[in-house]
Amino acid sequence: MSLRIVHYNEPVLRKKGEKVTKFDDALRALAAEMIATMHDAAGIGLAAQQVGRALQLCVVDLSEADADFTWTLDGAKLPLDLIMPMVIANPVITVAKGAPEEIFEEGCLSFPKIRGDVKRPEAITVKYKDERGGAHTLVCNGLLARCIQHEADHLNGVLFIDHMTKKTFAQIDDAVKTLVKETRAAAKK
Ligand SMILES: [Zn+2]
Repeated sequence: MSLRIVHYNEPVLRKKGEKVTKFDDALRALAAEMIATMHDAAGIGLAAQQVGRALQLCVVDLSEADADFTWTLDGAKLPLDLIMPMVIANPVITVAKGAPEEIFEEGCLSFPKIRGDVKRPEAITVKYKDERGGAHTLVCNGLLARCIQHEADHLNGVLFIDHMTKKTFAQIDDAVKTLVKETRAAAKK
């Protein structure tokens, strides 16, 4: 079942997520619904805030993405199909000191049709728990690192527009204002 995707500027998008503490059937059902919702929307990542839940939980699926990136999960280079879709709870991201940053155009399912350049570290290490509470360490770069940083931001109420330069934001300012109006109008229905 597909869940309704929250659009900017619904307040839940700015809420810091609570830590996931119960890795039970309800959590796994939510994660499965988030994956279905992400796939239906042709997205590569979705955070709990985007389905109206302020939780430290997000899902990612880059198995169809045409991009170059590398990864090791718990020290092993597993095939991508085995690790995707990923359910990521309570992520903690670290960036190596002096790691290079990269500018890349991002989109967000909470900002339909709006895209803009965002600068982020090119490689990360993320510690997280899966839907059964198993602890993992993922080392990755490229689009996978970017996607996880974008989703982990959501879990702290941070949005991709917050990272944009003034110049980049100026290019989408009107579209964002229109979206805010549309979201407000839809909430009144
Ligand atoms: Zn997003």
